[in-house]
Order: sequence, then C-alpha cells, then structure tokens
Amino acid sequence: MTDTTKPPRRFAEIDPEQCFDMLIGESWVQASSGETFRCFDPYDDEEWGHVPVASADDVAHAVAAARDAFATWSRIPALARSAVLSRWAQLIDENSETLARLQVHENGKTITEMRAVTGSLRQTADYFGHLALGPIGSTIEPFMPNHEAWTVRQPIGVVAAIAPWNNPLGLLSWKLFPALAAGNTIVVKPSEVTPVSTLFLAKLGLEAGLPAGVLNVVTGAGPTGAALVDSPGIDKIAFTGSTSTGAVIAQRAAARFLRTTLELGGKGAQIVFADADLDRATASLVTGITAGTGQACNAGSRLLVHGSVYDEVIDRLRTLIPEVRIGDPLEPTSAIGPLASRPQYEKVTGYLDLAEEEGNELLVGGRRGEQISGVTTGRFVEPTLYATPDSQSRIRREEIFGPVGAVIRFDDEDEAVRIANESPYGLVAGMWTKDVSRAHRAAKRLESGVVWINTWRAFSTNVPFGGVKHSGIGREIGPDALLEYTETKSVWLGLD
Ligand code: ADP
Repeated sequence: MTDTTKPPRRFAEIDPEQCFDMLIGESWVQASSGETFRCFDPYDDEEWGHVPVASADDVAHAVAAARDAFATWSRIPALARSAVLSRWAQLIDENSETLARLQVHENGKTITEMRAVTGSLRQTADYFGHLALGPIGSTIEPFMPNHEAWTVRQPIGVVAAIAPWNNPLGLLSWKLFPALAAGNTIVVKPSEVTPVSTLFLAKLGLEAGLPAGVLNVVTGAGPTGAALVDSPGIDKIAFTGSTSTGAVIAQRAAARFLRTTLELGGKGAQIVFADADLDRATASLVTGITAGTGQACNAGSRLLVHGSVYDEVIDRLRTLIPEVRIGDPLEPTSAIGPLASRPQYEKVTGYLDLAEEEGNELLVGGRRGEQISGVTTGRFVEPTLYATPDSQSRIRREEIFGPVGAVIRFDDEDEAVRIANESPYGLVAGMWTKDVSRAHRAAKRLESGVVWINTWRAFSTNVPFGGVKHSGIGREIGPDALLEYTETKSVWLGLD
C-alpha cells in the first residue's frame, strides 16, 4: 500500500542519499579524507546528497592535473577547442531541464529564472567557441628603423574559478568558457550551497570531448577555496562572490602578482526621472528588487524617484508589489522563491529588524516566514520597500541580497547622480527618462560598470559585464572576457 500521508518528493529523480564525486584529472573521486557535506533544499528544508570536502591535498592534485593538461590543450588548434565547446553547448541544450531543476533544488531560485539562465549557457559556450577562432594579435610598424613587431595573445595557464551560489552555472560559464576557449585549463570551486549542478555541467564537458585534466572540479566551502587561491600552481583567479571575500582573495593574489577577475557586490541605483514612462519604470522597479528573490549582484535595490512623481510611483508600487507571487520555486507561476540558505535568511531578516531600529518608513511588505499568508515551508521574505531619506541608513548603503529596496527622493539630475554615486559599489545603475540628452549625460557620470537606460537586467553574452569601485576588477562576457584570459606578447624582428 502506498503511504498517502507523505507528499510525493519534489525531485523524485534524485536519490537524496546519493554520494556525488568531484572531478580531478580523469577521475571522479571522493575526498582523500572521506569527508562530505550535505546539500539543502531551501524550499522543503530537506537535506539531500553527500558531496566531498576537498582538502588542500585534493586541491593540489587538481591543480597538478590542470597543469599537465595545459601543455596539450594550449597548443591544439583553436578549431579543435571550439569544436569541443560547440558539442558541449549542444549537450547543455539537450540536458537543460535537468540543469535548471538541479539549481532550483540547490538554491531555491524559480524554475523560470533557472531555465532562462540555462538557455544562456549554451549561447556562452557557442560565443566563446567562435570568438577563439578570431584574430589573436596585430602587426605594428614600430618607430625604430629596420624592425618589425607584432603581438600574439597567449593563454595564461591554470585558472582557479571560484563561483557563488546565487547563479551557479551562469556565473561559472562566464569564466569557464572564455578560459577554455583561449587555451587555459581550469580548476573550479563551486559554492558549497550549489555544487551538484556544477558537477553535472562538468560531466557534460567530458562527454563533449574535453581531455582529462582540462577541467577539474573541487567541492567544499571557504577553506577549499582558500587552498585553491593559495595553490602555487595557479596563474589566474576568477572569482564571483561577496566584496569581503573578494578583498581577501585580491590581497593574497597581489602578493604573488596573480591576475584576477573579481565580480563582487552591488547596490544598483534605478533612477526614475519626472518624464519617465511610469508603466515601464514601475514594472522594472519591482523586478529590480524581486528578480532572483533579490539575491543578485545586479539588483536595483536603490530606487531614486523624482519628487514630482514620487507619490504616484509609491502608490503604484504599493499595488504592484503585493501581486508578485511567492511560492514553490518549481511552479512556473512563482516569481519569488525562498532565500537560498539559513544564513541568508538570517542576514536578510536581520536587515528588516535593522530598518525598524533605524526608523526607516516601511512603504510596502515587511513580513517574513509564516507571517506571510499561505507560507508553511521555506524561508521566505516578502518584497519590501523602505523610504530611506537618511544618507547614513545602512538599508540604503549596504548590499542586503534579498528582496528589499531603499527608496530615495531627489529633486534634480545633479542630485540623482550624486546619490547614485555615493555608494561604494559600482556594478549596475540605470535610469528611466525620455530625454535623450539627459540619458547621455547621466550615463557618462554614473560610476558604474553597466548603465541601463529604459531597461533593467538586460544581458547578452557579447556585451561585457563587470564593476568599478568595490564591485570588482575586470570584465566578464563580451570580447573583453577573452582578453582577461590571455596575455599579450610583443614579438620583435630586427631586419638585416
Ligand atoms: P556568500 O557570502 O554569498 O556565500 P562568498 O564570497 O563567501 O559569498 O562565497 C563565494 C565563493 O567563495 C564560494 O564558492 C565560497 O565557498 C568561496 N569562498 C569563501 N571564502 C573563501 C576564501 N577565503 N577563499 C576563497 N574562496 C572562498
């Protein structure tokens, strides 16, 4: 007889007691210590899977395997590397639903968002596979007589890629595919919150024809990442994560003159000018704070609104925000899932408490967990807005990484730009206006790696992304990304 008291398992295809292996060289292995940790589904609060904790020794083996593989992979024709990426892209496509579901199981983001991200993986693999076939240097006529000179761009060596949990495969793909396309080999350390989707992506890479050692995946938490950063065999670090961890990594890399690409935190300002199309602007303000349950470095978490439209914008947000559907992230109708982990829930709800202590005015939302009607499971926080007139308010200054926005009123363009630039972060910023001259002026003045005008969260694999100030160093995707994974060599020829 079937047990009717227990609801059916949401991920029936995954054995919750499965032991996953990590990838070192040609072997799928457990940690040498035998130590494992468990994944956790933030929606149903269940643990699932056992994943190895890689020690410094395991990391050293992975780096050595990548070093061995570099000798061959860096020298085979770019066409052969491109062909592997192209087959990998095809396999990603064929397995896209599995990849999307695994990520939902790991981090509780909505299936709709994870399907979209998985679709973009394929594009990223294809794009860098093609880009690797393009010109790789230039000829230059030097000022010295009787000489010729040209440049070549060569792979850097072994790349250490450390990824976060909020978009595990998307943000990894921005490192993985350009690095491999350019002829580097790689050791990946996924977040301890989201390791299994990365292991599955790696398996598809081997099926696509990656030679042993070109891609290695070591699993574990901060200490495994630190062992990778400190490994003497690496030549470059590509990291996405918090600004505080990024600062530690940058310091350790600086001591060895290692090249780094760092994509860190953000506190994006969405500026609504008086002449904005308010239908589009308010819809974007909502998704700016709710997309990915606000757990996104590209969140538009500061809402700068011109005084003449302030009341109307707030009225509209008070209607629109409660309509955002909170629920099981596997349901395509859910727009907001739970926060990805217990620590993340503690952090975000801590900010809700702080907002009250600071005396910020609650405009909409503010409830958490079982205070939200219909919520019986998962760690949910309602999309929430506070008016934050005090420039010292921590709600207005700090990255919360949850569906929480700080609303700020301004009176003219100069003030809007000044407030937007008061943040230590500089990843994304944007504005809503019909005035083309103002859009050009303000776009130049905003201290931000990305500026969106009359749009938000627009991404394309061939357009660079990255930040300034405390949001990081370097650019991912777009043609710039290939430069981040190659070194320029100038070659001179003295003529007889
Ligand atoms: P979050 O606080 O959002 O988890 P982190 O910056 O701590 O962000 O984590 C991003 C990635 O960095 C994860 O893969 C994590 O395991 C890794 N990590 C954490 N601490 C370190 C460290 N000291 N050195 C290298 N990697 C680390």
